[in-house]
Amino acid sequence: MKKRFGFVSNSSSSSFVCDICGQEESGYDMCLSEAGMVECVNGHTFCSDHLGSPDVQEKYKRDVIIKYIQEHVLEENEELPTGGELDDLIEEYLDEAIDYDDGLPAELCPVCSLQCILDRDMLRYLLLTRGDNTALAYRDICEEIRREYKNDPSMFYADIKGVNLNENS
Ligand SMILES: [Zn+2]
Ligand SMILES: [Zn+2]
Repeated sequence: MKKRFGFVSNSSSSSFVCDICGQEESGYDMCLSEAGMVECVNGHTFCSDHLGSPDVQEKYKRDVIIKYIQEHVLEENEELPTGGELDDLIEEYLDEAIDYDDGLPAELCPVCSLQCILDRDMLRYLLLTRGDNTALAYRDICEEIRREYKNDPSMFYADIKGVNLNENS
């Protein structure tokens, strides 16, 4: 009999951090949905609260499907039907317009659809568009942080914990 090497799969601790608000959920053998989080096709992980209420989500899904129908189903200059006819069309193209196979579709992700701009993406954008000034300011601020917190680096993380831009909360 072959002996199997490797880890004994005891329950292991897992933790998930929300990309949008920074909230952390952890527990033994916890999966993403148990943590109340979702992941999109592009790897953004966030609390399902950021998707909005079920009503808002339904409305948003509907808009995504309507956009798909307008772009892929209707002939040019053909008008979007209304009422029950539109509802039938939405029902018919639901699976084709929104594909959940690899996670939450990008159209429904607040980050992918730019409803929320992540801090790290904002910094990259500033470096891209405001180039030199941002790079200099960034270096200055890094120096400032190292100087201010050199005696106790953990205070830096304690101080910034929970700080969020209103934009993303
Ligand atoms: Zn969150
Ligand atoms: Zn995303």
